[in-house]
Parts: sequence; structure tokens; C-alpha cells
Amino acid sequence: MSFPYEAPVSQSLFDRASAVTPGGVNSPVRAFRAVGGTPRFMVSGTGPYLTDADGREYVDLVCSWGPMILGHAHPEVIAAVQEAVARGTSFGTPGAGEVELAEEIVARIEPVEQVRLVSSGTEATMSAIRLARGFTGRPKVIKFAGCYHGHVDALLAAAGSGVATLGLPDTPGVTGAQAGDTIVLPYNDLAAVREAFAAHPGEIACVITEAAPGNMGVVPPLPGFNQGLKDLCAGDGALYISDEVMTGFRVSKAGWYGIDGVRPDLMTFGKVMGGGFPAAAFGGRADVMAHLAPAGPVYQAGTLSGNPIATAAGVTQLRLLDDAAYEKVDAVSAQVRGLVTDALAKEGVAHRVQAAGNMFTVFFTDAEVTDYDAAKAQESFRFTAFFHSMLSQGVYLPPSAFESWFLSTAHDAAAVERIAAALPAAARAAAAATA
Ligand code: PLP
Repeated sequence: MSFPYEAPVSQSLFDRASAVTPGGVNSPVRAFRAVGGTPRFMVSGTGPYLTDADGREYVDLVCSWGPMILGHAHPEVIAAVQEAVARGTSFGTPGAGEVELAEEIVARIEPVEQVRLVSSGTEATMSAIRLARGFTGRPKVIKFAGCYHGHVDALLAAAGSGVATLGLPDTPGVTGAQAGDTIVLPYNDLAAVREAFAAHPGEIACVITEAAPGNMGVVPPLPGFNQGLKDLCAGDGALYISDEVMTGFRVSKAGWYGIDGVRPDLMTFGKVMGGGFPAAAFGGRADVMAHLAPAGPVYQAGTLSGNPIATAAGVTQLRLLDDAAYEKVDAVSAQVRGLVTDALAKEGVAHRVQAAGNMFTVFFTDAEVTDYDAAKAQESFRFTAFFHSMLSQGVYLPPSAFESWFLSTAHDAAAVERIAAALPAAARAAAAATA
């Protein structure tokens, strides 16, 4: 397709970036490969808006892929960061901010009795799996097709997100040995999990699942699925790991756990808890966490873990996220979902808006999407046309049909109005699109 609107400064930055960085980006989905065109280089963000290097403003429906739940440059978060930065940026010793962030997490999420801070969601899931294997003495891990848990070697089998976008079912560089103990099953298929446990008795260390997947687009668990996983794990002596890197502190005060109440053995967090800085965590049962170094034998460490700037931002953001904040994000999410549906329905575009709390995806299909195969069956060429129309009208959507859209407390009536104004043309573009 052609891209009639130009972004010359972004283009020149992208050309420079491409000379020194593979593909011109530091995380694949930023590159617009799935939708084509020039990725926008953003220079600033305020509330619900981003401004690109060409000076064009966008309503942001990506929110840095989830973290910016209070909008960009929230004054209290910025003040906390400035205050922390003035005291020094890293000490390599324990610090009070780490204790405060850990206490905040433990207070919010009842199954988390102890927590370890790390710097990315990838580190959190990698470490949780090592701990599960160390605790159980078992080798195998069950994951689900379309669930993304970061770029952990053993988990890069049938992962969603950037891998889905780029159409790389597996990645070169992951050896058979690294992925050999990973059992990949279809999402929402409890019978398949039951069969896997029966086929590998006493060998499965853990089941890891996104609490409510957002990385094949939003595909919530069917009623009873998470509880079924938990019960199968408990019956076999395996651990149930709920990956709440995306949903944690976003869909409720206690993340997806706050919605479905299924009690995991271990949980992983990232995104919102760092307030826009690299902070992530894993935690859960105290008897399992006690196996972690230096308390126990399972090694895990990090030079910048619990960084004082990141913890200051995270603690401040979490403390601002009270019940009223979640009500606000839920309400604006429902409003935007309604607007998108109305616009697409008016143009007769087959679509399905699927939500998990305030996270949602617009699938270009009218069939229910319950797993990765169904997600891939959508008419994603329609999303491409829809995306570019929205972009040209100043609305920044995730540049892939396999991602969640994210809103914030800062998305006010003016921002929603801009989205509403852009939707009719985008819906017409989606209707007119051809494969
Ligand atoms: N787990 C889930 C559910 C995620 O959505 C992501 C990232 O999108 C990760 C893990 C990896 O987190 P990070 O990108 O911070 O390494």
C-alpha cells in the first residue's frame, strides 16, 4: 500500500538507525514491518499524547506497550524520578526504594509472599522457570502457543507478539536442547494439558501462561481454564506460573489475579510496576522463593536490579493507582471499544473486539478468537489499512494486528474525541482493503 503522508525527520532518523542497528530498532515490532511505512521516532509525551520528530501529535493507544497507565510525564512520577536521580543513579547495595516497591507488590497481590526485583519481564520469566525447575527438580515446562514470555530461549517456541508479527514460528539461535524440554500446547485447551501431564508423569516443573494473553492479540482464558491449570499442576506437584508482566497492576489493583482469583505458585511482573523504567519482578510462595540465592541454591542476580530511579518511579506510579484510577481506565477503554465497533459495523467490516479488563484487541474476523490459530486466521490486511488511516489522522495504534491496545487515566474526553473523529475514515479504509 502507499503512504501518502510523510515523516521526513523520522525517515532520516530511521535511515541513520538502520545503518548502525539491525532493522533500525531496538525491539522488532517498533519497526512497522507488519504494517509497512516509516516508524515514527517520538521525541516527547504528555498525558495521552505523543509528539514525533516531525512535530506531529498523536493520541497514544500503545502507552509504551502498557507501562504508561497514568499517561506520559505524569507530574508526580517525574518529580519522584528527579528527586531520586539527584541522589545518585545506582549504588550496587540494597536501598530503601527496593523494600518499598516489594512491600507495595506484596500488599496488593495476596499470593505473592516474597518477591525478587529484576530489570525486564524476560528476566522475570527466565528466573521464575529456573526457580521452578530448581524447586521441583524436574526439567519440563508447558507453555501455550501464542503466549509470549519475553525472549527466553526455552520459551521462544510458538511465541506470539513480535514473533507472531514477523511470522517466525521458532527462531534460529535456539537449539533443540534449549527448547527440547518445552512442551507447547494450544491455548485454552485443558484436555491437551491433561494429556501432557499423563504422558510425562513427574517430569513437568511448571506450566507458564499469560494470566490473560495479550500477545496474540487479547485472548482471555475461557471460564475455568486458569483454575484447571492450577488444579492439574497441584495434582502432579508442578508449579503454576502466571505471567502478569502485561496484566499486572494494569487490569486491576491486583492484576488479572484480582479478576479471576486463581492462586498461582509463582507470578511475574513488569511494565506498569516500573513506571516507564526498567523494573520487573517475580514472586510467590515463600517456601518456593526460599530456594533463591542467597537464601537458597538457585542462582539469580542483577547489577541494576532494584535500581533506585526505577523503584522510585514504580512505587510512585503504583501508589497513584487506586480504585478510582482503574475505574477511569476501564471506562475509557469501554468507550473506545464501543466507538471502534460502531465505526467498523457501520462500514460492514467483520470484526470482533476482545477484552481482558481494560486491555483489548480489534480482530478483523467475526469468529471468536480462543487460541493462536484463530488469531492468525483474521484478515490482518484490513488492520494494516485501518492502522495507516488512524496514524495519518493522529492516532497511534500498535503497529501489529496481534497486540493489545492500551489506555491510561490521562485519556480524557478531548483524546477520545480525536479517536472518534478518525474512526470513520479508518473503517472505510479497512472495508476497502484487499489482501
Ligand atoms: N511476558 C509478557 C506477558 C509480556 O507481554 C512481555 C513483554 O511484552 C514479557 C513477558 C517480556 O517483558 P520484557 O519486554 O520487559 O522483557
